[in-house]
Amino acid sequence: MQRRYFLSLAAAAGAASVFGSLGLGLRRGNAAEEHFPVMRSKEEWRRQLSADQFAILREEATERPFTSPLLKNHGTGIYRCVGCNSGVYSSETKFDSGTGWPSFWEALDGAVGTTTDYKLVYPRTEVHCATCGGHLGHVFDDGPKPTGKRHCINGLVLAFDENGSAAG
Ligand SMILES: [Zn+2]
Repeated sequence: MQRRYFLSLAAAAGAASVFGSLGLGLRRGNAAEEHFPVMRSKEEWRRQLSADQFAILREEATERPFTSPLLKNHGTGIYRCVGCNSGVYSSETKFDSGTGWPSFWEALDGAVGTTTDYKLVYPRTEVHCATCGGHLGHVFDDGPKPTGKRHCINGLVLAFDENGSAAG
């Protein structure tokens, strides 16, 4: 009983993130330690991004649900990563998930990478921009056809490019 109490308390206190920072071979290192086509120092990212964008892209924070104006955006175009301006999602794969975050059932080809995130008690699939390594959100398996995936993305780090194409 004592032990169970300790374990649940530890979990509630964010033990997963402590384990994460220790590594244990489960989690990727900081994005800054990996190689991406676009690399900037922490200070450069801070200058370029808003505090909220920095917290999401560089520190894997999550915006509050139902706060993104992009939730109700049904325009045709490309959603770009605000870290590097690369196209990451298309309006063609956007859907209303009802979760409070912009949702897509697929990313643009090769635009994102995924890792396993152990910040919560259960593992989640973290998704980041393949160009700058910036954290975008998470991928879940309860999305619609044809992929069955739900890319749950922070709207604060997406810039909508109306009529934009993945190439441009
Ligand atoms: Zn990016």
